[in-house]
Amino acid sequence: MTQIGASLLEQLLGADGGYRGPRVDCGDGHSARFVGYRDKTITTVLGAITVRRGYYHCADCGHGVLPRDDELGVADASLSPGLRKITAVAAAAAPFAAASTLLAELAGIRLGTKRIERSAETDGAAAADRQTRESAAICQGEVTVLTPAEQPLPDKLYIAIDGTGVPMTAAAVAGRAGKGPDGRAHTREVKLAAVFTQTAVDDDGRPIRDPDSTSYVASFATVGDFAPLAAAEATRRGAERIRQLVVLGDGAAWIWNLATARWPHATPIVDLYHAREHLHALADLLTDPLGPDHDQWLQARLADLDTGDIEHLVTTTETLLPTLDPLLA
Ligand SMILES: [Zn+2]
Repeated sequence: MTQIGASLLEQLLGADGGYRGPRVDCGDGHSARFVGYRDKTITTVLGAITVRRGYYHCADCGHGVLPRDDELGVADASLSPGLRKITAVAAAAAPFAAASTLLAELAGIRLGTKRIERSAETDGAAAADRQTRESAAICQGEVTVLTPAEQPLPDKLYIAIDGTGVPMTAAAVAGRAGKGPDGRAHTREVKLAAVFTQTAVDDDGRPIRDPDSTSYVASFATVGDFAPLAAAEATRRGAERIRQLVVLGDGAAWIWNLATARWPHATPIVDLYHAREHLHALADLLTDPLGPDHDQWLQARLADLDTGDIEHLVTTTETLLPTLDPLLA
């Protein structure tokens, strides 16, 4: 069935040989001269097809110009745009070898691991590059984000930021120092910002995230390069015009620094799970001054946290501080 499709597609595309007159613009303002026709094999969702394209040459730049490749979206690519999209989805969902199996089983498309890797990495790099340029333009005010008038802005907008180590293959972390006993890195930190709204509450009065309200940005970049990506995403969501902006984090310093620099008016909140983790760590540090009261103290502070009595949590902890550091007494 797909073979018939491929043959039909080939005939359909064959009706146009890609001749665009004796001369075309080379893209740099020169005139490129028609030389002849060149065939190219493109792998599509329906199978491999051969397409004829008019080939032009620019004497000034010294390179070839194939207008039809740009029209078909296959310049510097041997996979059709439709197949590249499917490949990118499969490669994002699974390792390249598994993605190859997925494509074969679900769509009957046979693509080697290397071709999947090349296609996904090329398109991924292009997408990341476009996002970086767009984000910089938004942050520098060169691009203004317009929100549709019929879509009222929410009262509150949440920006959750986190970073986590992602296990990597040895080749992907070659030359990077790590914390492991062998001194080599086995993971790389990916940073993520999720922007969402919560307008309803559940039966216990806890906020529920609005379905389909989350947009993400993720990157292996440094904090300095990640910050504009997160800031631009927040701006796209109308952060500048929101009454109450909330930044959720695990308490890591880089997140608060980023939040303070980008959204000084936002309310910073450590999410409950991480806050509980920090309390456990704090109780461990206070093992000596607490003595046998350790467990009871920890439970009481966790209860403070659950009821939102941060004032009591802080003052109770502070009474223990002189024992820790005489300078604070
Ligand atoms: Zn030229």
